[in-house]
Order: sequence, then C-alpha cells, then structure tokens
Amino acid sequence: MPKFKSLSDIQTALRTGVTTCRALVEHYLEQIAATQTLNAYVEVWADEARQRADDTDRQLRDNPGQLGRLFGCVVSLKDNICYEGHTVTAGAKVLEGFRSPYSSTVVERMIAEGAIMIGRTNCDQFGMGSSNENSAYGPVRHPLDPERVSGGSSGGAAVSVLADTCLMALGSDTGGSIRQPAGFCGLWGFKPSYGRVSRHGLIAYGSSFDQIGCITHNPDDVALFLEVCAGADQFDSTATDRPVPTVDLTLQPTQQYRIAYLANTIDNPGIDPVVKTVTQHYLAQLQEQGHTLEEVAFDLIDYVIPAYYVLTTAEASSNLSRFDGMRYGYRAPQATDIESVYLQSRSEGFTPEVKKRILLGAFVLSSGYYDAYYTKAQQVRRMLRDRIAAILGEYDAIILPVAPGVAWRFGEKSADPTAMYLSDIYTVSANLCGIPAVTYPIGQHSDNNMPIGIQLMGRMYDEAALLSLANNISHAI
Ligand code: GLN
Repeated sequence: MPKFKSLSDIQTALRTGVTTCRALVEHYLEQIAATQTLNAYVEVWADEARQRADDTDRQLRDNPGQLGRLFGCVVSLKDNICYEGHTVTAGAKVLEGFRSPYSSTVVERMIAEGAIMIGRTNCDQFGMGSSNENSAYGPVRHPLDPERVSGGSSGGAAVSVLADTCLMALGSDTGGSIRQPAGFCGLWGFKPSYGRVSRHGLIAYGSSFDQIGCITHNPDDVALFLEVCAGADQFDSTATDRPVPTVDLTLQPTQQYRIAYLANTIDNPGIDPVVKTVTQHYLAQLQEQGHTLEEVAFDLIDYVIPAYYVLTTAEASSNLSRFDGMRYGYRAPQATDIESVYLQSRSEGFTPEVKKRILLGAFVLSSGYYDAYYTKAQQVRRMLRDRIAAILGEYDAIILPVAPGVAWRFGEKSADPTAMYLSDIYTVSANLCGIPAVTYPIGQHSDNNMPIGIQLMGRMYDEAALLSLANNISHAI
C-alpha cells in the first residue's frame, strides 16, 4: 500500500505537520532502493530531491502563502523528457551521456508550482515498444509479478508509481505508452488531446502523435497535471492557445451519460476471455446505474494498427535521422571517417526494434511505395478521425478496453512482432485522432491477479468533460 495516494493527502499532511517534505522524499528514496530489482529507474536525483524538499519545508514554515499548487508532489520523469543539466537518453545507447541544455515546458511548469523531480525512468528505446523489453538498460519488471512485463513504453513510469517511489509519473504516449502500462499496473493513465500540452523538450518519436501525459493513483492528480501543464507555448507551434481547462471533479451521482462501445472491439477474437468478461460486467454495471451504453457500427478496427505503424515509422525515420554520432551522445570508437561514424554509431546505438522501424519508415516513404503505404495510411487516419468524431457528436465518450490482455510473461511476444503490435489495438486510435483518453482499473484477472483497466476516449480538447465522466463512472466498480 502506498503511503500517500493523492497530492491533497500529502499537502494536508505537510500543512498539519504530520510529516515533512524531507521525510516524504526519504520514504520515496527508500522505496526506490528497496525495489531496485524492478529496474524502473535509470537515474535517481537523490541530493537534488532532498534539497528541494528542504526548500519546501522552509517555505511551509516561513511563507506558506507562497507555496505552488504542486508543493509536495514528487514526480518521476520518463527518460525522454528533457530536464536542464540532467542526462536524458530515451532508453538508447545512441544518446549515452547526453545532458539536456534546457528543460521541457512541462518540467518548467511543474517545478514552478513546487514539484520535485526524483529521477528518470526506464522506457522502451525512443518510446518504441509495448513491454519495456526494448531498452538499453534492460527490461522493467512488474511489481506484482517480477516474471511479467510492466507494459510499455512508459514501463518504468508506471512501476515508479505502483512501487510507491513517487506520487506521479510523467510519460509520453504516441500509441498507448502511458495508458497501457498504467492499465497493466492498475493505475490511472492519461493522454491529453494532441496539442493540449507542449511537446517542447520531449524527444520526438512520431511528432503528429506524441503527447506528454501522466500516470497517477486518481483523477484528481491527473486534473492537477493538466491544469499546470496545459496551454500555449512559444516553443511548440502545435500547442493550442485555447484556454487552459479547469477540471471539476465534484461527484454527480445523478448525472447519466451516453457512452458508445465500438463493434468488434470487446467482441473481438483477439481479446483474452477474462478481460472480455470483466469488461462486459463493468459495462453492465454502468447500465444498471442508468447510463446508456450502446454498440455503434465500426468497421475500421483491422486498419488502425497498420495505419499507425506505417505513419509512426515514417515519422520516426525522419525524427531519428539526427542521431548520427556527430551531434549528440554516442560515437562509435572504431569509426575512422564520416561515413563510418554514421554507420557504426547508428548500428551500435539503436536496438534492433528501432532499426527495424527506421527501415520500415524509410521504405513506406520511398518514392515507389509512398502512395501505396504512406498516402493510404493517411487516408485511413482521416476516415478514422471523421468516424470517431461523428460518434462523439452523439455520445459523451467511447469506452473500450486498454489492451487485449494483461501484463504478459517476459519473452512471450518477443518472437512475434505482429502479436506485440496488436497489443496496441485499443490505444492507437486516440493518437491517430488526436483526442484525449484516460484509463483506470476495473478489476483483476482471475488466473494471475494482474490488473485489468478500462479506457475512455473523449472529444477533442474536452479533457474536462472526459475526466469528470471518468471520475463519476469509475465509482461503479
Ligand atoms: N507500443 C506503441 C509503439 O511501439 C506505442 C508506443 C508509444 O506510445 N510511445 O509504437
């Protein structure tokens, strides 16, 4: 059981003197040491966290009126989010030893509100993976069963929260990388609308998909993350200048929602039968409570994974071209001329999965195949966006599983890339459409006690409504 499960509990404990921020940070540092074998962290910033905690305690004593909204909030950073003066490697050897000269906008905004960064978490290299088995630092283990994966690519992030080593984890979500590990770990995972939160300082994977989001124990902390981090940013032209949402999470027990579920998602041959039963049971409970749950026709499910992997690999092949052994991080020691620097640094610096994706991306963009793959996938993306927007015109949200199964055993899907990619079938649509999505736990698998989550997708830029709905109906369990 975590010591504290919400920032409001922490802030009350700090204000009333039940604990100090320093003691809280010491607790998290002890937890990090005690759970080291899970491999969730690749670096811990212990001294800095202690110092920041002492500053908070001093402020609590001398100047409590000046405390920021996130005072006492201890946060882990996925290893692809830049923090000035700190190493960041995206789980990749090619960025070995690279120190970021600037901070991402999210980190700046959170620190300005009093958050404490405790360390950087392990992830699949450049965010490419669904199980955290593609990291240069080795895999992340699941706290409830170390023989199982944590989910990915923000595996270390999810485990850092579940193992009570911090209150909140920041991650990135290109096709489910926050929501799927959060689901596997029984936590809340949130991906904002594309453009809601600045991507400045996030190491790019698929730039038209990537979003920074968070993993927490509850929706209140998700709302805080959003309110602090959202908003226009001069460093990211895709960050919207719409007003920052205020999220009202007052419970409204009489509020009834219209929720759609897509045909062929829950009733899909690829889904684990227990996950299916738990999901159906939850839907029935919601119906009993007076919500409307309706199946809507949806014939695009078989196209979302191909479209996602064509478009993201195309974008990745371009984004990752900057890692050439010249400008950042690792340079192959045996290289003798410019050609061999590029070739050897990239050959040695990327994992096989990343190389495969760069090749695939370059292939689908090549002149002979561009129309057959890249253009086609863009067309699927447009069709999907239109279809989902039409559904969300009629319903408050779309409900769907987080993943077809629970956290699997190490190696189970490694030999079969298609099986691995298919595990993203429920999460990629939100990124293809740019809409916000949130996941939360609804049960456990009867065979292995692994957590099972549910997912809700909402209207573009309407995170406030989505989180309020999720908060209200998450109490149905
Ligand atoms: N598993 C997906 C992929 O490998 C999603 C990753 C992500 O969201 N970063 O691309």
